[in-house]
Amino acid sequence: MDKKYNTYNKFLKDKFGVKVHKLIIDAGFSCPNRDGTISTDGCIFCDEVGSFGSTHSNLLSIKDQILEGIEILPKRFKAEKYIAYFQAFSNTYKPASELEKIYNEAFVDDRIVGISIGTRPDCIDEEKVEIISKLKFPQIELGLQSIHNDTLKLINRGHDFDCFLRAYEMIKSAGINVCVHTIFGLPNENRDMMLQTIEKLVELKIDGIISIC
Ligand code: SF4
Repeated sequence: MDKKYNTYNKFLKDKFGVKVHKLIIDAGFSCPNRDGTISTDGCIFCDEVGSFGSTHSNLLSIKDQILEGIEILPKRFKAEKYIAYFQAFSNTYKPASELEKIYNEAFVDDRIVGISIGTRPDCIDEEKVEIISKLKFPQIELGLQSIHNDTLKLINRGHDFDCFLRAYEMIKSAGINVCVHTIFGLPNENRDMMLQTIEKLVELKIDGIISIC
């Protein structure tokens, strides 16, 4: 049966004509919700590596993390092209003047067809958006988790839904694709509340949604 939604894999295959896979990078960023600027506790679901999902060492340079991923992934996923995915912690949480060099290090050769940057809505501004908009096929992955402010407070996100909306409008105005991360099953959330989050994101015409259950 056909899916009622377009998967990210299919979207990338349609766009680039070959199988494209994300290469996860830890570029040594931190997070204001971990370093004491907002909080030292972090979101209640955050781990000590800032939700970093890779097994390779962040002691490697960005270039070497990319090359290591390219070495491993084709055997497992038969990928031919790659999106550099800056995943660990908040990947716009440095002065704008430093970001361009960091992101460009990921474009080691023409197998890297784009970049995806995970961050918080309160770690983005016009200057950073402009830098990102000039990169090859850029996408920003915004952590939101829920549209409900009571939930955001309970999980110690350190920002509210209005903050997300401001960031989203800023990024979309620059023509950058936005993917939003949500979580199903957060404390005190029932089925209706989870659906309200997804319905609101659909209403906003978000480009992509990643939901963890
Ligand atoms: S925003 Fe991300 S890195 Fe920061 S505390 Fe929350 S989950 Fe951890």
